[in-house]
Amino acid sequence: MKSPFFKMEEFSCRCSYDSCKESNQFMDERFLELLFKMRAQVDFPFLITSGYRCAKHNKDVGGAKNSYHTKGLAADIACSNDYQRYELIEQALAHGLTVIIYRSFVHVDMRPGQPKLMRGSY
Ligand SMILES: [Zn+2]
Repeated sequence: MKSPFFKMEEFSCRCSYDSCKESNQFMDERFLELLFKMRAQVDFPFLITSGYRCAKHNKDVGGAKNSYHTKGLAADIACSNDYQRYELIEQALAHGLTVIIYRSFVHVDMRPGQPKLMRGSY
């Protein structure tokens, strides 16, 4: 799975546990493909602030139990302006991804069923 816009390391778990090396291999390829397609449609870089999370790290950062991050099916993209937020939301939904909007980032995930647009802490 390759994209000119990303390095796989960007999706690695942000923890420092020894048990968690090369964790980006757990990213779901179908999800990455959709994320890469989203990126190809916009004119700004994606700064991934959270990709894969091991269960321990997910707990450390207060992630939802069974978070899609722990399944390699989610990514948080830094976002602090309305233009980029709009583009991210539009592209995510167009690619069938669910969106949760936060103040400083946009969460996208690939969950079963119709894509949803939700509001996180904002
Ligand atoms: Zn980890």
